[in-house]
Amino acid sequence: MKLLKWFSVMVVFMIFVLSIGIYILVSERNFDSESKALFTEKHPLPPNDGQNTSSLRAKYFGTSTILFNDGAQSILIDGFFSRPSLSTILFRDFEPLPTSDIDAILSDAGISDLQTVAVVHSHHDHAMDSTCIANSQGAILAGSPSTMNISCKGEVVKEQFVVDFRDSTETSMTQVFGNYTLTFIKSKHSPTEGAAAELLGIGQPIHSLITPPLGIRAYAEGQSYSILIEHDKGNVLVHASAGFLPDVLLSELQDKRIDWLFLGVANIKEDYVNDYFAHTVAPARAKYIVPVHWDDFTRSSSETLYPARAIFGDFSLEIELLANWLQKSEQQGRINKTHLVLMNMGDEVSISASQ
Ligand SMILES: [Zn+2]
Repeated sequence: MKLLKWFSVMVVFMIFVLSIGIYILVSERNFDSESKALFTEKHPLPPNDGQNTSSLRAKYFGTSTILFNDGAQSILIDGFFSRPSLSTILFRDFEPLPTSDIDAILSDAGISDLQTVAVVHSHHDHAMDSTCIANSQGAILAGSPSTMNISCKGEVVKEQFVVDFRDSTETSMTQVFGNYTLTFIKSKHSPTEGAAAELLGIGQPIHSLITPPLGIRAYAEGQSYSILIEHDKGNVLVHASAGFLPDVLLSELQDKRIDWLFLGVANIKEDYVNDYFAHTVAPARAKYIVPVHWDDFTRSSSETLYPARAIFGDFSLEIELLANWLQKSEQQGRINKTHLVLMNMGDEVSISASQ
């Protein structure tokens, strides 16, 4: 009898501890005053940026959704606006927002003549909305065969540029889209293991055409890329997923000038960042670095982003690791002076060629 009582108490205690753990992992987070100061004081936008409408501008929408606009033509990296909630992506099927809603967001953002929607890999937070956006805007969808297999609620992609390194020894593919020359560079997804890797189809393709609404398992990774954007006004590297292939960026970028680097920092850890930054930040040698994919992509807002829940990362730690590495590397002469810039929802910066 005594043993049964003791056992019952232990079970209740373990359920209690487990519940607390799950609550901490999945509960919503907000910025504290110290995190807010990172945006306003430590890593603010460069002064007067976004004011010059004749420049090449980059507007940020969270995760790795970035709209580049030179006033005449635009390109969009990873059009992801639907941002379904955590409970939806864990327990339900989901689909893109109505195309008219996304078109309205892009119209408000001042989009002009969209040339391409370029997608870094096929997970829902990068690719799910992209076919709908490309078709609606008359743009070319650029990405892996898996990305091409995500239909817009049944409508297949109308114009496509397929990037596929599976049967190739090459590590890059270049294509001109209007005023923008894009080079897709073979890369790797951020480190994801065990059940999460299984759930997210890491290294797996989307084998055939899929039609949302679908559960998260349907949106497998496909292949992952960095995207180099070359434009008369300035050059940008978008490295959205926090993985890397050793020395690939070093050999692909060589002496190319990169003015701005948009760098994925989702869930990076202390024991990983030295290698990660050495194979991404160091070869890019960008003057400005914008961390991306630090936000909670399961919360929607037109006004602000929120820091990721513990299950997806640690915003303050990710920014601190990057800032510390940059400072140390500058002191050691491994990289030139770099400006770390934090962008929030709807923030815009001007891209110009560094001296
Ligand atoms: Zn992913």
